[in-house]
Amino acid sequence: MTTVGEAIRAAAEALARASDTARLDAELLMAHALGVSRSDMLLKAMRDPAPEGFAALVARRAGHEPVAYITGEAEFYGLTLRVTPATLIPRGDSETLVEAALQTCPDAARVLDLGTGSGALLLAVLAALPGASGIGIDASRAAVDAARVNAAALAGARAEIREGDWHAPGWADDLGTFDLILCNPPYVEDDADLDAQVRDFEPASALFAGPEGLDDYRVLIPQLRALMNAGAAAIVEIGAGQAEAVGTLAAEAGFTVQLRRDLAGRPRALILG
Ligand code: GLN
Repeated sequence: MTTVGEAIRAAAEALARASDTARLDAELLMAHALGVSRSDMLLKAMRDPAPEGFAALVARRAGHEPVAYITGEAEFYGLTLRVTPATLIPRGDSETLVEAALQTCPDAARVLDLGTGSGALLLAVLAALPGASGIGIDASRAAVDAARVNAAALAGARAEIREGDWHAPGWADDLGTFDLILCNPPYVEDDADLDAQVRDFEPASALFAGPEGLDDYRVLIPQLRALMNAGAAAIVEIGAGQAEAVGTLAAEAGFTVQLRRDLAGRPRALILG
């Protein structure tokens, strides 16, 4: 018999080439195969027999499929979110936007999340502010379906998810106005050299934005003011090296601009006021 602990050790070795987080990945996949939380598994199940289905999950990860798509869930700002291949997997870096939002926005804020994906940014802010409510918008019908599942589970009636595309005329006509706008738009350069786990599995429509990765900011930033209440902030995520270009677009649209860095010290978000 192979135990859970032994199977995890072997899987971590097998995944070392495909993943920088091989041991963690093996543990998450095993917990998923067992249908228990990772902590319960580590505390109680390491000597149990390894389940049959585990090898197939490890093989998918060895082929670079992200753990979050294999298990169907990802952690973001303390929340467990359902994710599907139609949604970007929420990144720890994006928690920078949530931190910035919670420092600036009122408790009863109306919040708009543009390109909501799984709903991560909207739902993290609503979880921290029980009096807040808001709308998440995504152009992908399949992402809207995933976000609705998360919204219903985590924010009830305080979150509404709508299909919408900021490239389409009139998309924002009946949205109203907001105290806080959050946006993690596509911002990767079309020819960027991405890891296989991103390039081959995550939705291109959530990643790529033209030769400089600026196409969505160019379309979106001039449209933000009309959606903002007096004193509102719009917080947009930016990629490496984009602070100056996006800051210029924002200044041209009449915004004041503040920069926020992520935990690694990289410029990660701009707060437009
Ligand atoms: N941070 C993501 C990545 O580097 C990109 C997210 C985005 O384009 N909004 O994979």
